[in-house]
Amino acid sequence: MDFEYTTEEQTFRKEVQDFLAENLAPKAKRDQNFMADWLKKVRDKRWVGFSWPEDVGGGGGNIMQQVILKEEMAKAKAPPLGTCMMGLAWVGPGIIQYGTEAQKQRFIPDILDSKYHWCTGYSEPNVGSDLASLQCKAVRDGDTYTINGTKIWTSLAPFADWISMLVRTDNFGSSEAKHEGITALLVKLDTPGIEVKPIENMAGGKVFAQIFFDDVKVPVENRLGDEGKGWAVTISSLANERSSIGEVTAMYEKLDTLRALVSKVTRNGRPANQDSKVRRTMGVFEAKIESMRLNGLRYLTKQIKGEPLSSETSVNKLHRADLEVSMGDFAIEILGAAGLQLHNQQDAVDRGKWANDALGWPNVVIGGGTPNIQKNIIGERILGLPKD
Ligand SMILES: Cc1cc2nc3c(=O)[nH]c(=O)nc-3n(C[C@H](O)[C@H](O)[C@H](O)COP(=O)(O)OP(=O)(O)OC[C@H]3O[C@@H](n4cnc5c(N)ncnc54)[C@H](O)[C@@H]3O)c2cc1C
Repeated sequence: MDFEYTTEEQTFRKEVQDFLAENLAPKAKRDQNFMADWLKKVRDKRWVGFSWPEDVGGGGGNIMQQVILKEEMAKAKAPPLGTCMMGLAWVGPGIIQYGTEAQKQRFIPDILDSKYHWCTGYSEPNVGSDLASLQCKAVRDGDTYTINGTKIWTSLAPFADWISMLVRTDNFGSSEAKHEGITALLVKLDTPGIEVKPIENMAGGKVFAQIFFDDVKVPVENRLGDEGKGWAVTISSLANERSSIGEVTAMYEKLDTLRALVSKVTRNGRPANQDSKVRRTMGVFEAKIESMRLNGLRYLTKQIKGEPLSSETSVNKLHRADLEVSMGDFAIEILGAAGLQLHNQQDAVDRGKWANDALGWPNVVIGGGTPNIQKNIIGERILGLPKD
């Protein structure tokens, strides 16, 4: 592992730092045009979709440049590089890899320009961890598929224009070779027959939904990849986001906010950050995040060598799940009753951020695969234990 940066990498880091110094106004000085200006400027720099090939409008950035860009943006607490989150994370990469020329031209520019949101329709009421058992079906008649069924826990669906979803087009009712017969479709959410019913989460937010499909007609030209091969499309699209750089920066940011909290509240009559138990706990959090960072460098080394990432990313995902819950619980413990207040309730600290964070763990803990599933992957594929 080589920890030194090359001259080109240092020059690129300086370019990002200079850009931030010039264009990232302090929060208090940002007007209502700030976000639109920011998105246009980072798009002009080709930093939106920075890892995507230049011929589709991406930045063609190499792995180390992506790391540097992410690091500098995170250090400066800059807004995101584009707001079409799922489009940038996996829908776009899937279209680049498997899409037709017409699909690339139709969808990629809109994703890069943050025009609308995409959502992802994989889970169903009885289908989550065992995704290959999905039942939502699409029957083809000529140039049209007709979808019937339902998807659930679909994040961002209440605000999205399009859904990238998996349907069963073959192998109905068979428990053998479940991965066969699954097809990926790109579906506009205002198509007749679609109903999006928002679901309220325990913190009171309505960011995900159950979606019902009742004889929904979708043109065959909206199929991503070959019919019946949607499983492969999904696996390789998701692999695009499997580095842990973003996760580690998010955890360090969370630790910073926790540090600010323990410096302003008291415990046993003294600032909490002078209490030995608090200091020990904060130290453990930091050590765990640092171990995630170092483990992430292993993934990075593999990526630089052009080797694909696989089961090893489950290690950091599992670590993060544990940390998210422990850090959230710790903040509530430090705050006592005030930590339970949400939003603008009378005694809410930091506008209810802590209660909201502590209730928000399912997002990172369950979304993308539960801890039990990560443990199965680590046990079976890394440690070579017998199959579940
Ligand atoms: C905040 C949030 C956002 C989400 N967003 C999306 C989204 O945008 N799109 C989407 O498609 N889905 C989304 N999901 C759904 C998510 O992917 C599923 O909830 C997840 O895969 C688990 O599936 P499940 O809920 O059906 O639980 P199950 O799979 O039924 O699991 C229930 C319990 O059984 C355990 N378990 C299951 N199988 C095994 C096994 N083989 N060995 C050991 N233990 C096992 C699990 O760990 C869990 O504890 C989201 C979920 C959450 C919480």
